[in-house]
Amino acid sequence: MPESPPASSSQDPLVVLGAGYAGLTVAEEVHRRSRGSVPVVLVDRHPVHVLRTELYEVGEIARASGDVGRWLVPLAKVFDRTSIRLRQGTVQAIDLARSAVQVDGQELGYRALAICLGNVANYYGVPGAAENTESVYRLTAAARTASALREMERSSTELSGERRPRVVVVGGGSTGTELAAEIATTDWASVLGSPTRPPDVFLVAGSLPFLYGFPPHLIDRARRTLRRAGVTIIHGLNVERVEPHRVHLADGTVLGCDVAVWCAGVEAPPLIRDLDLPHGKGGRLLTEPTLELPGHPGVFAVGDVAEFKDPRTGLLVPGTAQAALSEARTAARNLVARLTSRPLEPYRYRERGVIVALGVRRAAGTVGPVTLWGRPARLLKRAVEREYSRSVERGEPSGLL
Ligand SMILES: Cc1cc2nc3c(=O)[nH]c(=O)nc-3n(C[C@H](O)[C@H](O)[C@H](O)COP(=O)(O)OP(=O)(O)OC[C@H]3O[C@@H](n4cnc5c(N)ncnc54)[C@H](O)[C@@H]3O)c2cc1C
Repeated sequence: MPESPPASSSQDPLVVLGAGYAGLTVAEEVHRRSRGSVPVVLVDRHPVHVLRTELYEVGEIARASGDVGRWLVPLAKVFDRTSIRLRQGTVQAIDLARSAVQVDGQELGYRALAICLGNVANYYGVPGAAENTESVYRLTAAARTASALREMERSSTELSGERRPRVVVVGGGSTGTELAAEIATTDWASVLGSPTRPPDVFLVAGSLPFLYGFPPHLIDRARRTLRRAGVTIIHGLNVERVEPHRVHLADGTVLGCDVAVWCAGVEAPPLIRDLDLPHGKGGRLLTEPTLELPGHPGVFAVGDVAEFKDPRTGLLVPGTAQAALSEARTAARNLVARLTSRPLEPYRYRERGVIVALGVRRAAGTVGPVTLWGRPARLLKRAVEREYSRSVERGEPSGLL
C-alpha cells in the first residue's frame, strides 16, 4: 500500500477478516454483546460459512455429485436479523500502521480488527506435492478430491486382473486418519449406483508418531480400526517427492497410486507470514495472553492464524475449530472492552474432548472423563456437528469437539 496519512477514523467499523469458525463467532458475539451498537464488517472471499470440520466426508461429497450445500451455511441468512455487514472479497494486505486493510484493491479503514484468516496447506517444500496431490482443507479442494475418487472408482472395473484402485493419503494426524478411514469404508458401489472395486488405501504417517498428541488409548483404537478397514499405515517415513501418480518415500519406496491426497499439515496464509510481527510455528501470529497483537491495541489474532501457548500448561493450544470458537468468545469480549476502555481478560483454553471419525460408522474419542468407541462415538460426532450447523443458522454458534 502507498505511504499516506492514516486511513482510519473513529467512525470506522470493527473489521473481522475471515468468516470461518473464529471470524463468524467474533462478529456474532461483538454484535450481541454491544447490542448492535458497534458497527461490524465481516470480510470473506466467499459469501458462506464452510463446515470445514466435516470435509473429510469425501464419500458423501462424491454422492452429492457437486451439490455441496450441506457443507456450508449462506452468510446472508445468518446476518438477516443483525447489523453485521458482509463484504465479499479477498483480503490482499493488512496495514497495521494505517489501521486499514486492502480488499480487492480497495482500502477499508478499521477502528478495531480481528484477524481470523485460518491457514493454507503446508507442502514443506516437497517437490511436486502442491501440483500432484489433492487436499481437503477447503471446500473446493474437498469437492475436487471427491470428484477424483468418484472418477477413479467409476473406471475401477476396467482394471486388469484383480488390481484395485489405490489411494495414498499423506499425513498421520487427525485429518489424514479421518480421510483414509472414510475412503476405505465408503460403499463406492452405492455412491456410483454401479459395481466398483474397493480401493486400497495407504496412509503415510511421516516421521511424527501416528496421531501425535492424542491420548494413547485412542491411538491404539484408531490404529486397530484402520487396519480392520483395510488401511495400510506406513510409519516413520516422510514423502520426498511427488510425481503424477507416484509418491516417493524417504527410503526410496515408490507408491504408485490413482489419487494422492495431502493432509500433512498447514501454515499461516502468505499475507500473514509477510507481516512484520512476531511469528510462531508455520508463520502463525504470536499474541498477548488477551489474544491482542503485541504493540497493536485493538488488533486481535484468533483461530488457526494464531499460535497461543497456554501459560498454565506450557502447551500450544491445538489448531482446532473447538479452540477457534472459544478464543473467538474471549476476543469478542476483549474487543468490546477495548472499545469501551475497560480492562481486558486473558484467554483460558479448556478442552471439552476430542472425537476422531474412523470411517462412516465408527469413531473414537474422549469427552471429559468418558471414553467413547465405535458407533456411539460416531453418532455423537454427527450430533455435535449437526447442532453446530443449526446453531450457526440461528446466529448463536455453539461448541464443537
Ligand atoms: C478435514 C478436517 C477435519 C477437521 N476436524 C475437526 C474436528 O473434528 N474438530 C475440530 O475442533 N477441528 C477440526 N478441524 C480443524 C478446524 O477446521 C480448524 O481448526 C478451523 O477451521 C479453524 O477455524 P478458523 O476460523 O481459524 O479458520 P477457517 O475456518 O479456515 O476460516 C478462515 C476463513 O478465512 C477466509 N479467508 C482466508 N483467506 C482469505 C483472504 N485472503 N481473503 C478473504 N477471506 C479469506 C476463508 O474463506 C475462511 O472462511 C478439521 C479440519 C479439517 C481440514
